[in-house]
Amino acid sequence: MDLAKRVQTLTPSSTLAITAKANELKAAGHDVIGLGAGEPDFNTPQHIIDAAQKAMEKGFTKYTPSGGVPALKQAIVEKYERDNALTYETNQVIVTSGAKHALYTLFQALLNEGDEVIIPAPYWVSYPEQVKLAGGLPVFIKAKESNDFKLIPEQLEAGITPNTKAIILNSPSNPTGALYTKEELEAIGAICLRHDILIVSDEIYEKLIYGDGTFVSIASLSEALKKQTVVINGVSKSHSMTGWRIGYALGDAKLIKAMTNLASHSTSNPTTLSQYGALAAYQSSQEKVEEMRQAFSYRLEKLYDWITQIPGVYCMKPQGAFYLFPNVKEAVVACGFHTVDEWVKALLEEEKVALVPGSGFGAEDNVRLSYATSLEQLEEAAKRIKRFVEKHQ
Ligand code: PLP
Repeated sequence: MDLAKRVQTLTPSSTLAITAKANELKAAGHDVIGLGAGEPDFNTPQHIIDAAQKAMEKGFTKYTPSGGVPALKQAIVEKYERDNALTYETNQVIVTSGAKHALYTLFQALLNEGDEVIIPAPYWVSYPEQVKLAGGLPVFIKAKESNDFKLIPEQLEAGITPNTKAIILNSPSNPTGALYTKEELEAIGAICLRHDILIVSDEIYEKLIYGDGTFVSIASLSEALKKQTVVINGVSKSHSMTGWRIGYALGDAKLIKAMTNLASHSTSNPTTLSQYGALAAYQSSQEKVEEMRQAFSYRLEKLYDWITQIPGVYCMKPQGAFYLFPNVKEAVVACGFHTVDEWVKALLEEEKVALVPGSGFGAEDNVRLSYATSLEQLEEAAKRIKRFVEKHQ
């Protein structure tokens, strides 16, 4: 059977692949520490689970409007008003099956064949594939590690062509944990306005900020930037609800309507009971969100210390999300490996620690470690990585 051209070059998600390999080893009885996960290890807060159960008992088990139940759209509008000083109407909101599907639907609604989308590297693995699936061309701009993996205005200017339609910004970033400041966003925003480039602002890690960093949504910087931006967010990371599959997009009403039409022919609607769970997540106390943030913050401090003590491993200090993205090139060479991918593979085989190689994120010299796991596991993982590096040198 001949498969469609569009899937022939599609690469499987490298983060899911490493998790699958680690699980396979675990199932075979090995003591594997998986630092590949892209999801919080906490349970969904109980009041959210209770609300979803109640919704089912009340009979909310049928289809909903394609773009989401009105009460949830309203709660999302209120969340952005409260947290980000941004005012949207409910016809500027679409609720989707996770932020991933919000992005997928957005690119399907937005891109024509050959439209270019600027993707700063390192990037989240799904961006390039989703752009390509919509007929677009990903244009990668390598952000410098020396600038904490953040794009500078000159680099952006140099990447713009007459075909540039959009740019994807992800702050805080997966995989680097980098957080753009207000001033940095203003500079990028000004260029996007000048060239009429749509900004796709993926704000999924908004609630996971550490140290003295402050989250700023680029859409909140001016009325013009609000019009120029599509905001993507969801409850997966903030409320530890990855399996519930609820995300959303906020933006121009015409675009949101087109996305909703597309959703009506693909998902019909995001899972009904999950929408009621998300509604409870936004309408109740945010105490648990803050508790989880504090736990992540503590783990970051510890893990950062342990990892940066390993010879040949260098790391920028992240200000958000739950990943470290150290440069391990020196350690890889000192250990006698040719590539980071080989080094990661040997580490998993010999020490049973699963990391994600940076190649999938557009950064060949780095690896991604997720600290969405217990402190004990993180300490043991750091010990094993150190032992591995020392053994091979
Ligand atoms: N955007 C980024 C940067 C992510 O890391 C993820 C999940 O890993 C998503 C979007 C998708 O989140 P969701 O679970 O809501 O689909």
